[in-house]
Amino acid sequence: MKPQFSRRRLLKLLTAAGFGTPFATRIVADEAPANTPRAVRPENIVIPVTARDRYPAQLVDGKVLQPARPLGVIHETDVLVVGGGPAGFTAAIAAARTGANTTLVERYGYLGGLWTGGLVLLVYPTHATENGELTKVVRGIGDELLGRIAEHANGATNYTAGRPDPTTDPELTKLVMDEMIQEAGVRMLFHSWVADVVMDGNAVRGVVLESKAGRQAVLAKVVVDASGDGDVFAAAGAEHEQRLHAVGLVHRLGNVDRADLEALKEAGFKNLGSVEPLPSVKWVNLRGPSTDGLDIAELSRLEVEHRRSIWKRLEKLREVPGADKVFVLQIAPQIGVRITRLLAGVRKMTDKEARSGVREPDTIAIGGTYGAGRDKPGFAIPYGCMVPKAVDNVIAAGRCLDVDTPMVEDMRLIATCLLTGHAAGAAAGVAVRDKCRPREVDPEKLRDLLRHQGAYLG
Ligand SMILES: Cc1cc2nc3c(=O)[nH]c(=O)nc-3n(C[C@H](O)[C@H](O)[C@H](O)COP(=O)(O)OP(=O)(O)OC[C@H]3O[C@@H](n4cnc5c(N)ncnc54)[C@H](O)[C@@H]3O)c2cc1C
Repeated sequence: MKPQFSRRRLLKLLTAAGFGTPFATRIVADEAPANTPRAVRPENIVIPVTARDRYPAQLVDGKVLQPARPLGVIHETDVLVVGGGPAGFTAAIAAARTGANTTLVERYGYLGGLWTGGLVLLVYPTHATENGELTKVVRGIGDELLGRIAEHANGATNYTAGRPDPTTDPELTKLVMDEMIQEAGVRMLFHSWVADVVMDGNAVRGVVLESKAGRQAVLAKVVVDASGDGDVFAAAGAEHEQRLHAVGLVHRLGNVDRADLEALKEAGFKNLGSVEPLPSVKWVNLRGPSTDGLDIAELSRLEVEHRRSIWKRLEKLREVPGADKVFVLQIAPQIGVRITRLLAGVRKMTDKEARSGVREPDTIAIGGTYGAGRDKPGFAIPYGCMVPKAVDNVIAAGRCLDVDTPMVEDMRLIATCLLTGHAAGAAAGVAVRDKCRPREVDPEKLRDLLRHQGAYLG
């Protein structure tokens, strides 16, 4: 009779038999000393698969119907953060530091969102003009992250010189984010796409993940929607609006420092990219047409068009004398969707209010405004613009909050997303601790906690 092994038991046996942990990272052969005996490689091992119930969609009278089906609950947590961009990262750390059991779910295999995957490398605005003085507003977790990236050689521009708005290296940014998430004890799930929510009446009780393992559920006391596109609050039926905005594709050029920049400018190449910590590399922003960032046909078309135009431009650029060594180092793996869904929150944040300088009792951060022709004072961000009008147990963070049109451009920037993420995670932690709904979180307690975690509230 054939022995029956569960996957877990099989992995245990393999480890005991000297295969090491089959799925742990191995040192590549080149790095191993020459006299190291070659280990037997655990390849082509068969893991028994027991037949599972299948619940495929059915074509019935021309309609595709999805049958009701039970989902395995793979994990339960206090705070679940969806999306590992700038906002989701600070949210997860802030929640974990309140002592809440915290899980972060990300559809790709790295952290940073548009910052790293979209190659949008300039973090701004980290400062604001406050009472006529340049004041650093990104403090606390966001600043800790920037400081740690800057400790690495070629990690960041500006930071160590005490100047505003660092540009960071994307790979070091991912590395430091990984480290901080691990140190905070956050449970990290990559390669997991949140496809739906689990509702209990009007409250979000978790999410449905889609992955190579199929559909599975994670349950949570509070969910932070840091997907950038409001995937969680939209699936939960929360009131929101959808906007069209410019969709671009960023790329990086190498050997720019070897090119004759004057000749390039004379030849009409005005945008040779923005500074990076690596002296020979520049990142080149691309605005792109205003369109629907949720439409997969449109996104597919733009991926192809933008990529073609980047390569065409390079060809022309290299024809300029002294620029033949310039090359495309990288095109962003993630297309540049700026804005899609905006939440309808318990409170809308308006440009008028931001300019008034009013600081309400529910102020959870001061948004930066310094640089790039920006003329506002630092503005107070209210907690209410992150909390859905009616749906419970979800807090939004990042580029999808309830703001009026002029505020969109302020709120979607990385530095500000680091701040709203921090506040959302802290609020989720308070809600878990006080056993209350996010809309019932005591603003004074939240502000005390944020100050304790190093945030600047004016
Ligand atoms: C072309 C371009 C240029 C820009 N230039 C600048 C600039 O120079 N400086 C600046 O500060 N800002 C810039 N921005 C804005 C800034 O990059 C973003 O607005 C900011 O990164 C938003 O942060 P976020 O955390 O809200 O969302 P995102 O960075 O979009 O992160 C969202 C994360 O959630 C994940 N996710 C999404 N949906 C799901 C799901 N359903 N399930 C699981 N995971 C999911 C994503 O993979 C991603 O990791 C630019 C943006 C673009 C597009």
